[in-house]
Amino acid sequence: MSRTLLNSIEELPGDALFAIKQRLAEDPRDVKVDLGIGAYRDNNGKPWVLPAVRKAETLIHADPSFNHEYLGINGLPGLTSGAARILLGETSNALAEKRVVSAQSLSGTGALHIAAKFISKFFPEKVIYLSDPTWANHVSIFESQGLKTATYPYWDAATKSLNLKGFLKAIEESPRGSVFVLHACAHNPTGLDPSESEWVQILDACVKNDIVPLFDSAYQGFASGSLDKDAYAVRLGVSKFAESAPIFICQSFAKNVGMYGERCGCIHIVVPRPEAGSSGRDVPQIAKAITSQLSKITRSEVSNPPAYGAKIVSKILNDEQLTAQWHEDMITMSQRITKMRHSLRDKLVELGTPGNWDHIVNQCGMFSYTGLTKQMVERLESEHAVYMVASGRASIAGLNDNNVEHVAKAIDEVVRHFQSSSSSKL
Ligand code: PMP
Repeated sequence: MSRTLLNSIEELPGDALFAIKQRLAEDPRDVKVDLGIGAYRDNNGKPWVLPAVRKAETLIHADPSFNHEYLGINGLPGLTSGAARILLGETSNALAEKRVVSAQSLSGTGALHIAAKFISKFFPEKVIYLSDPTWANHVSIFESQGLKTATYPYWDAATKSLNLKGFLKAIEESPRGSVFVLHACAHNPTGLDPSESEWVQILDACVKNDIVPLFDSAYQGFASGSLDKDAYAVRLGVSKFAESAPIFICQSFAKNVGMYGERCGCIHIVVPRPEAGSSGRDVPQIAKAITSQLSKITRSEVSNPPAYGAKIVSKILNDEQLTAQWHEDMITMSQRITKMRHSLRDKLVELGTPGNWDHIVNQCGMFSYTGLTKQMVERLESEHAVYMVASGRASIAGLNDNNVEHVAKAIDEVVRHFQSSSSSKL
């Protein structure tokens, strides 16, 4: 009987990150600090609507032609073209040669989902390589489409630096044609990015081993405050792969425009140049086919993407004054985060907290992989009401002038507590 159909459905544990938010809301203590979810906060610990966004909204609302009609299936053209331009650069050859297919998505997660769906539909045998560690959702997004995932070494816990050797070895040893998911900048969770010369080595190795790169660009402008600087790896990849393989790029405007809940993002697929003298389909034909397939995916899942956030971001990308304001806003955010990194490190040094804390200032973007153990993180929460992810990842955006001292003292206490109880070292 169908009456019992639902009875044996297993209950899954809740999402660890969103559970932090819940526990924090229920915590009655006066001083509590949220270093969990990766969302920017101002120096008063409040969400920040970027001045560029406020101005764009004012203009949009004042426009008598503004309405809430559906967008086309592949999204708002002003958004997708502007998004490709900031990612690939004004002088991008791939854009000039019309080798870029772009479609709007439900933020970065939606772009990754479309990429996963596209890969599983057309290349289901491909293995998806993810950095160890990576953003936890990467695994679910690709595996939910039936794709196999594997990991490549990234973070060397002993030195708190990039395991470049292991990374390159994994590229060499992976099956030809594997997909490597590369964090474009501000790696989540480690906050550790390859240097420019390391990117050259990584991408050369990818070309040599016929890898298909998938760049996840969720923090452009957040790492350094500069869109161009933070697009270094993506642009290098696009130029190096022009003659070898397609590139997938998943782009989010959640963090750099502060549009977290509006779900605004894009997927871009860069088509390589055809081999000279080849008789296959030309780039415009391939691009048209890809566009139609992206439409098919979006149509069946969300029909068409959300309009409001797209209109705001499109306005910012296509209006010189708003773009200039946005650049200032990204500098405001990235500089405040950098200041907090220094403040936390300096306070830990002042307290004489055992261990070296320089990695906090050497990392970039929203997160710091602190090196704190799971037990330390638990004690931070239970004794000091400082909340972060069990892996020791702290969202630096949650720090401000009013709470950084509390956090430093809390870290100092837990590190000493575990040092004296088990002589565990950081
Ligand atoms: N990729 C990475 C690495 C991220 O950290 C995030 C946000 N946490 C995303 C993608 C996607 O975020 P959103 O869907 O909010 O754009």
